[in-house]
Amino acid sequence: MNQNENGVANVFCIANQKGGVGKTTTAINLAAALVARRKRVLLVDLDPQGNATMGSGVDKNRSEANLYQVLLGEATVQAVCKRSESGGYDVVPANRELSGADIDLVEMDERERQLKLALDSVLEAYDYILIDCPPALSLLTLNGLACAQGVIIPMQCEYFALEGLSDLVNTIKRVHRNINPALRLIGLLRVMFDTRVTLQQQVSAQIESHFGDKVFQTIVPRNVRLAEAPSHGVPGTVYDRGSRGAKAYIDFGDELVRRVKREALVARARTPGVKTV
Ligand code: ADP
Ligand code: MG
Repeated sequence: MNQNENGVANVFCIANQKGGVGKTTTAINLAAALVARRKRVLLVDLDPQGNATMGSGVDKNRSEANLYQVLLGEATVQAVCKRSESGGYDVVPANRELSGADIDLVEMDERERQLKLALDSVLEAYDYILIDCPPALSLLTLNGLACAQGVIIPMQCEYFALEGLSDLVNTIKRVHRNINPALRLIGLLRVMFDTRVTLQQQVSAQIESHFGDKVFQTIVPRNVRLAEAPSHGVPGTVYDRGSRGAKAYIDFGDELVRRVKREALVARARTPGVKTV
């Protein structure tokens, strides 16, 4: 099974309101890892920095239209979508134009549902749609959360990592209650991990005891090949397949697919009259 129980794409946000915690690296490498699993993947760049776009080998300043026009209802996802040749997935590009969207959207009806409206028409064309969120709990992020079934939170195991996490978890709960009842926390992914640092091990253990099975087993190590790959416009998993970072993201893709499948079976088993096989 590729798509979710409704026969449409699994839509996941990669979110954390802190910057530089590995959201974009996770979005790009997870997209490529899912492609390696023969999944059809769309990566939506919801960050005006356009790093997911560039890191996928798509020039953020060359396309006539991007996510900004899509959110304002002036272009369709199909029209602005570009192929990442290096990653094997499609990209909805973004650039600094998108930073105006937060203000422009405020004026619109259903301002937090514009991305959902836009993605509705491509839900059947993909198995996974990944949304790389900006480092803020802004209206842009809200648009991401409003159309996703799940949130993946990459985090570094550092002293302040847990600080701010409660704001994000509370935002997810609020969106779940008021805008999007399908939204849930899929899991926390420990990234840029350095086993030699005792503090990181301590924080990692703290995260496990606090969030239990919401923590992914896969841990992404700090690995220079993952950091080099974006400047070549290639996902780390493709740039150096044998690197420890690439292997971790491939494992993460597998773990995510297993988790999604398991949760779908549990959900079906809970629905009366629906068989689980
Ligand atoms: P965010 O999207 O949350 O701002 P990025 O994914 O852009 O974070 O990562 C921030 C910086 O850290 C980037 O320079 C990126 O290349 C680097 N980086 C991310 N993950 C790793 C890793 N596992 N090992 C080494 N460098 C990493
Ligand atoms: Mg980013």
